[in-house]
Amino acid sequence: MKFLKTLRARFALWTAGLLLTALILFGLFVYAYMLRSLRATVDHSLDSAATQMIAEGMRSGLIVLDDLVSDPQYLQLNEEGLSIRLLDAAGTTLQTYGPYQTWPDLPADSSALLQRTQLDTLVDPKSQTPIRVYTTTFVRRENVRSLQVALSMSDVQKTMNLLLAALLVGVPIIVILAGTGGYFLAAQALSPIDTVTRTALQISDKDLSARLHLPATDDEVGRLVATFDSMLERLDAGFRRERQFTADASHELRTPLAAMQTIIGSTLTRKRAPDDYEQALIDLNKEVEQMRSLTEGLLILARNGATYQSTRLEQVDLALLLKDVMDSLRPLAEDKGLQIVDKVPSRGLSLEGSRDGLIRLFVNLVDNAIKYSKEGTITISTQMTTPQMSSGQPNGNQNVEPKLGDEPLLQVTVSDTGIGIPAQHLPYIFDRFYRVDSSRSSEGIGLGLAIASDIVRLHGGTITVQSEVGKGTTFVVTLPLQKK
Ligand code: ADP
Repeated sequence: MKFLKTLRARFALWTAGLLLTALILFGLFVYAYMLRSLRATVDHSLDSAATQMIAEGMRSGLIVLDDLVSDPQYLQLNEEGLSIRLLDAAGTTLQTYGPYQTWPDLPADSSALLQRTQLDTLVDPKSQTPIRVYTTTFVRRENVRSLQVALSMSDVQKTMNLLLAALLVGVPIIVILAGTGGYFLAAQALSPIDTVTRTALQISDKDLSARLHLPATDDEVGRLVATFDSMLERLDAGFRRERQFTADASHELRTPLAAMQTIIGSTLTRKRAPDDYEQALIDLNKEVEQMRSLTEGLLILARNGATYQSTRLEQVDLALLLKDVMDSLRPLAEDKGLQIVDKVPSRGLSLEGSRDGLIRLFVNLVDNAIKYSKEGTITISTQMTTPQMSSGQPNGNQNVEPKLGDEPLLQVTVSDTGIGIPAQHLPYIFDRFYRVDSSRSSEGIGLGLAIASDIVRLHGGTITVQSEVGKGTTFVVTLPLQKK
């Protein structure tokens, strides 16, 4: 029963079953056709023999059967056991010839057979072989006579028996061969599936390194195998990224905790003046602040994926949103002597998205511009574009998963005249916990741009960066107006 559950067994059984049905139908057809044509040959021989004899009899005016059949033209039929009977209108046998003696009765009114013929198949009680009997009636010198000609069908029966035997032996052999062939063909075609099953069993959440590594074929199984391998590749990469993220997160959390422990430990070594305690608390507060922003960043990253799907998308006026972001950060910029230049139209940049996500995205970008600039200006501008226009990016840009369709796009540019980012760091700045150089800012935790690129990706957009050390940095966010 378990055997029947395998696909190869079912395939083999189906092949054998269908072939058996087809061969049975074909065999029946061949058998019936052969029988019909062999019988037609016998009938034709009987018909022409009878016609010939009647014509001969008419010509000579006398029918003597023995003389008639001694003609060489009947040699072949004689060998096949030709039998003949001549009767008068009353049904009295006038003459007989040949080995067959048990003749069928004539119709009651033999004149009914005039100009017509009758064919019967009877079984010879002596030899038990079928006999084909041809009966016809003719008028000779105003006397109605009947002529019966018979031939044994034993040759036909022999041929038919041979054909039946060939079919009965041949059909099962062909069916068994086809079934076995089907089984092995299916087994060969499906063997990669077994490898997929074995590999899938090997895979655990600890180790996703297993791959099928089967030769690439451009068929259904080949495509399944390739899809399976690429799925494993993606899962593996995803798991490794998550593990790395957890390790990095723990490591990042350990640093402020260790600093706090050191501050507390050294403060408690002896009695201290109130000023020292106050200083210790100020230092602790800094570390706590660092931990708070770190855990907040982690929380945002963890939630982004999970909550975005359930977040209600709303129509957001990006012009107003950007102005709010600039207004809230302007005091911070002005404290550092920086100027925020607003090149955003007063309204009318409406797109579908998550308001909270978009605020966080642009706050991160403008906040970075403030953090990493000592003087100069921070310019925020917008423009409408199309995918073609936005795809030709100059070198040095970092695309984050470009996934844009043909719809018009909205581009937001945040550029500063700050310290810039060295080219070798550009490929990594969107990675989690990646900091160009911690000496450039003590506040950063390396999650701001990772969160920003996550938000952009969830909106179906792209984020790119261009930067030159000492001259400034420009981030370009491209968003579709409608989230797909
Ligand atoms: P952080 O919290 O350290 O700012 P981010 O993910 O926001 O982390 O940024 C990653 C790194 O990219 C930062 O360490 C910083 O050095 C660099 N960076 C980001 N924005 C700018 C900018 N506008 N100018 C210069 N460097 C930047």
